[in-house]
Amino acid sequence: MMLGSDVSSLTTTAKTAAAQGLSIVVPVYNEAAGLSALHERLIALAKTLRVRYGLSCEVVYVDDGSIDSTLAIARSLPADTLDVQVVSLSRNFGKEAALMAGLDHARRGAVLFMDGDGQHSPDLVERLVAHWIDDGYDVVYTAKANRDNESAARRFAVRGFYALINWGARQKIPEDAGDFRLLSPRAAAALRQLPERNRFFKGLASWIGFKQIRVDYEPAPRAHGVTTFNAGRLIGLSIEGLTSFSVAPLRFASLLGVLLAVGAFLFGLSIVWEVWTTGKQVPGYPSLVVGLMTIGGVQLIMIGIVGEYIGKILSELKARPIYFVAEHTEKHADGATAES
Ligand code: UDP
Ligand code: MG
Repeated sequence: MMLGSDVSSLTTTAKTAAAQGLSIVVPVYNEAAGLSALHERLIALAKTLRVRYGLSCEVVYVDDGSIDSTLAIARSLPADTLDVQVVSLSRNFGKEAALMAGLDHARRGAVLFMDGDGQHSPDLVERLVAHWIDDGYDVVYTAKANRDNESAARRFAVRGFYALINWGARQKIPEDAGDFRLLSPRAAAALRQLPERNRFFKGLASWIGFKQIRVDYEPAPRAHGVTTFNAGRLIGLSIEGLTSFSVAPLRFASLLGVLLAVGAFLFGLSIVWEVWTTGKQVPGYPSLVVGLMTIGGVQLIMIGIVGEYIGKILSELKARPIYFVAEHTEKHADGATAES
């Protein structure tokens, strides 16, 4: 990392990178309570980045169908140093769709994704930007430094999820990586090119490749309110991620099938052996019932897994837009405004 404190000390490559600007994408869903405070911090950040790199910033707030006054507050935020776009979706489409909407509307080269609840500290952004401009990284992602404050069950689930999704994958999705990340202009362009509707950002941002670097950080506690991601939603997101990213569950199904078949074959052999050597009839009722129930249960699970993939094919096939924009406003730091 370079320690230069103003634009004149930058290398030519760094200057070229910085000249493309930075769009900060913030998805907001019922974040009225903390939005103004966050905006203040972003303005301060934009000022620092301007002095340090000559970087011109914009922020894109994506209102994901909030039912409180988030939209009104977002629209009233001043364009001081940074340009402000407010994209309001026609309903609540979920965070992944909101991120996509932000990416589509971003007008600057590099794109930074950041939560609107204060957990992703603007103070860390300077470090992320330094990795991009000074060191030439394309994807700078953050990961939770420690998970000590989480329950053992949750950690176990997380570990299992990544083990499964990365099983046999060429490009591993880094464990613990969050949505707080910076993409260089070419990485952002690559992400825009991916055509799928089922978006799993963490996976996609890793899949595109380029030079990636991990930054550890400790997420701040939520500034207000509670998380919208309860256990149910997290499980949903995990299934979404798994099925859109890997065929590991299908392989797991085949493997289990093979294991069961081999087991059954060996069991059959042992029965033949027993009858042959002892001449006794083997009592069969309990083993029969257990065998039947095992096969039945396993088959239903496997049909469910295959069904998940068929559902995914169906939704890709329908090719529906990922989100609809109801309103879009724009304020420029030089005073111009636009509305649509
Ligand atoms: N969010 C969103 N749409 C949703 C749910 C959440 O845009 O349907 C936004 C939310 O406003 C916040 C970010 O996504 O800026 C992360 O949400 P949250 O804090 O609830 O999740 P967590 O931090 O617990 O993962
Ligand atoms: Mg949060």
